[in-house]
Amino acid sequence: MKKLISVLIIIVSIFIISGCSLSDNNKKTIIATNFPAYDFAREITKGSDIEVKMLLKPGSESHDYEPSPKDIISISKASMFIYVGGESDEWVDDLLDSIDTSNIQIVKMIDEVNAVYEEKVDGMTIEEDEDEEEYDEHVWTSPRNVIAISRAITDKVHKIDAENWSLYEDNFSSYRIKLEELDQNFKDVVNNSNRKELIFADRFPFRYFVDEYGLSYYAAFPGCSSETEASAKTISFLINKVKEDNIPVILTIEFSNKKIAKTISKETGTKVLELNSAHNISKEDFENGKTYLDIMNDNLEVLKEALK
Ligand SMILES: [Zn+2]
Repeated sequence: MKKLISVLIIIVSIFIISGCSLSDNNKKTIIATNFPAYDFAREITKGSDIEVKMLLKPGSESHDYEPSPKDIISISKASMFIYVGGESDEWVDDLLDSIDTSNIQIVKMIDEVNAVYEEKVDGMTIEEDEDEEEYDEHVWTSPRNVIAISRAITDKVHKIDAENWSLYEDNFSSYRIKLEELDQNFKDVVNNSNRKELIFADRFPFRYFVDEYGLSYYAAFPGCSSETEASAKTISFLINKVKEDNIPVILTIEFSNKKIAKTISKETGTKVLELNSAHNISKEDFENGKTYLDIMNDNLEVLKEALK
């Protein structure tokens, strides 16, 4: 990836020196790497002239994303750039070191929260190269983290458009109220249920979420492992857990092939539901303007079922 970035930077430098420009207007632009970053910026800048763009293509796998020369040019010309700062966008730090960022406001989401390491729990299939401790990048799965991230975004938006200070401050205030409501709703669901355990027949990007609400979990793989084949040991471990603890719902995440979940469901007769971790959304949902809040409100209903 380092090599790729260096090559891309050379290409981009040639573009910029030769005066090639991909956008000629002076419109202020915020570039966001993934869907959560894009959606939070969209909420804060509602009603303004600022354009918010997402690098990730809707419907694509966020962990496979690699920047194109065009993406690098748009970042270098943006007023503001928002990224996660985890394993999936490791390329960003190299890029920011090599371009002139003096006119770009930058938000690294992982720096706005109490970051924790990716966790390995009993029963997981672990990749061989996964010995290294890495920060869990899925900071947005906790609504309380989203409040902190949105605050940071708002502060930087003030710097690129100080004139409309009160608009952004109002947007932040109403967004915060909705996030606090969401947080309270999750707390209520957890408090009203005796069950505190979730079973993911999938990867597990919900570390910040379960920590926030005092839930425990078992999963086939940690974080966003690129592993897709669970070991026989993992499968039988999860089947036993589901049986032992009378688990009512086996969980999968978005864009999953649900293979492991189907195997466990077949063996246990337990239904499968999706808890959406909002890395990215489908093209259709993107066009319909689906938001992080919509996704998390759907998750609320799933959580109710899973903790029954
Ligand atoms: Zn992930």
